[in-house]
Amino acid sequence: MRAVRGAHTAPELTVRRLLHRMGYRFRLHAKDLPGRPDIVFRRRRKAVEVRGCFWHRHPDPACRNAMLPRTRSAWWAEKLDRNVERDARNLQRLRQGGWSVHVIWECQLKGPSLKEGLTAFLGPVRTPNRPHG
Ligand SMILES: [Zn+2]
Repeated sequence: MRAVRGAHTAPELTVRRLLHRMGYRFRLHAKDLPGRPDIVFRRRRKAVEVRGCFWHRHPDPACRNAMLPRTRSAWWAEKLDRNVERDARNLQRLRQGGWSVHVIWECQLKGPSLKEGLTAFLGPVRTPNRPHG
């Protein structure tokens, strides 16, 4: 079984590429922050988390990726609920530290609202040709 919360997953790469095209600059997997958020904008004190719907149990009832396997479903539920608890704990710690966090679910990557949501969350791109964090 692959790592529950692996870095550099395909959904995360999709969001990173989009942000880059939009002109944003960011850091990855900040080790000093709770839960090592995927994408970090230090000066804005903002972070973007990209979550796999299955591993992190996307709570949207319309999300089909989040359905539990029919076999050993109780075992899966218990296992995955631990991820959900950890996610919630990390999110709370980040917010207590003054960070804003934008969570993107894997199943939301294709819609047009992905870009709009990122722009609304991050605000305008800063002056290019200077290092940003
Ligand atoms: Zn989903």
